[in-house]
Amino acid sequence: MSFKDYIRVIPDFPQPGISFKDITTLLNDGDKYRQAIDELKKMVAHMKIDLIAGPEARGFVVGAPLAYALGVGFVPIRKSGKLPSDTIEIEYDLEYGKDRLAMHSDAIKPGQNVLIADDLLATGGTISTSVQLVKQLGGNIAGAAFLIELADLNGRAKLPGVDIVSLVTY
Ligand code: IMP
Repeated sequence: MSFKDYIRVIPDFPQPGISFKDITTLLNDGDKYRQAIDELKKMVAHMKIDLIAGPEARGFVVGAPLAYALGVGFVPIRKSGKLPSDTIEIEYDLEYGKDRLAMHSDAIKPGQNVLIADDLLATGGTISTSVQLVKQLGGNIAGAAFLIELADLNGRAKLPGVDIVSLVTY
């Protein structure tokens, strides 16, 4: 069965008109979850990666196992007010709503090559904000990796010049 067969689609969640791609059904299957991370590892093999950064919460579920598989560090990007030490923060628009993302100011050293990882690329707001956070600290963007890309929302347009890989496209 393909990866798509393991992703549950929920109509009108969390708002009418949104067709929510639920990855919990993929995560629930140990073999398929591992296959997904192994496949992403292959897809980013050509990139030079020193660190992976992922936005909470589903970015952790993709980014952390990928960091483990590659033997590189992981940087959590969190909602404002959650990280305990000094942070840099940026406000951004979501597919539905607004938010503010934060990263520890000392998480990335200038010149480090950072792959951004998340479960899903929709409008690209979350990832372009993550890219800005990494760049603010002097990091280079190695690329961006997703389990799912919603092609119609054209998130790629918000990420010019970024090497983007995704496992499944809708
Ligand atoms: P973007 O900022 O519009 O690209 O939205 C991507 C973010 O919203 C990711 O962090 C996703 O976790 C979340 N998201 C948006 N749409 C969906 C969906 O259909 N399923 C799961 N997560 C979604």
